Amino acid sequence: MPHPDGAAQRDADALVAWYRANRRDLPWRRTRDPYAILLSELMLQQTRVDTVVPYYGRFLAEWPTVGALAAAPEEDVLRAWAGLGYYRRARNLHAAARAVVAAGGFPRTVDGLLSLPGVGPYTAAAVASIAFDLPAAAVDGNVQRVISRRHGLTADPARGDGLRVVTRRALDLHDAAADASSVTQGLMELGATVCVPRAPRCDACPWGAVCVAHRDGTTAELPRLAPKIPPTAVSAVVGLLAGPDGVLVARRSGSGLLGGLWEPILGEREQGEAPEPALVRVFAERVGVDVVVGERVGEVRHRFTHRAWTGSVHRAHAVGDVIPHPGPGYDAVRFAHPGARDLAWSTLARKLLGYASIVAEPLAADGP
Ligand code: SF4
Repeated sequence: MPHPDGAAQRDADALVAWYRANRRDLPWRRTRDPYAILLSELMLQQTRVDTVVPYYGRFLAEWPTVGALAAAPEEDVLRAWAGLGYYRRARNLHAAARAVVAAGGFPRTVDGLLSLPGVGPYTAAAVASIAFDLPAAAVDGNVQRVISRRHGLTADPARGDGLRVVTRRALDLHDAAADASSVTQGLMELGATVCVPRAPRCDACPWGAVCVAHRDGTTAELPRLAPKIPPTAVSAVVGLLAGPDGVLVARRSGSGLLGGLWEPILGEREQGEAPEPALVRVFAERVGVDVVVGERVGEVRHRFTHRAWTGSVHRAHAVGDVIPHPGPGYDAVRFAHPGARDLAWSTLARKLLGYASIVAEPLAADGP
């Protein structure tokens, strides 16, 4: 049994007391249900709390138990997730729910949680400590920042030795406190509301009297993260082909970033390829439709994790009959009215559908 030093004991006591007195009343803090905790943790990755709150409530209203979610069709789950982005999280959640049901219940160890689809070390530790009160260190960017500053750590806390030291310090707090749930959530809350990236509120911090970065005036320099790799620029084309039943849209195949989601017909331009011939090629290759390219109606930019995507958006007019069939990268194609609620749209598609509604309405009345 580890014996935390006196500093870790004082830090843990101060953190837990501060958390209990200052925590925000968020809906996932009113439950110990591992399914609801897993749902909240996945939704909160790369998404702001105030965005997540309504999605979390709607999701649990539709699928209140892990069994209910496991029984739902994937397309329904993706549709409920639409707008949150990073759809891989929704697919993983659904797969994890099915794995939990197949196993007869939630695993109650970190290793067991790690075996669920899409559950990595951070999420496993978060669920283990919050739902099951196990002393597991959930180390995300917030926790890396708080602990780096508290101890004046100068190594990159997101990798290698720096990450190992941060994890050890977080485990020291768990060893010192009986309430693993409050340690984990206290660290998260401190990073989210007090020890924020710019201008931390050290005067309101439970560690203000002992923090190395505050004492040394180095809060602006810590944490020292390695520079991020700039995103790859991607040039794409988008074609809005209108018909009586809306615009031509297709569903991405596979389990990749956008798999299972609908979008107007689009594709990347090849090196040196102008938008118009690129769009003719994309329609022929991806949905088997010959088109001529009409006016350019706009440009849409979208940021994926590692890609800065720019799409040139054009009207497209069919040459001859439109008998579309899904080609590479798509598994279904049809006409649909922009924003149709029975389809799961990607965040990018929602941006594009703003243009699609301009194109579809007048042409819908006149025919294709
Ligand atoms: S004292 Fe300031 S820098 Fe140190 S942990 Fe608290 S908020 Fe962060």
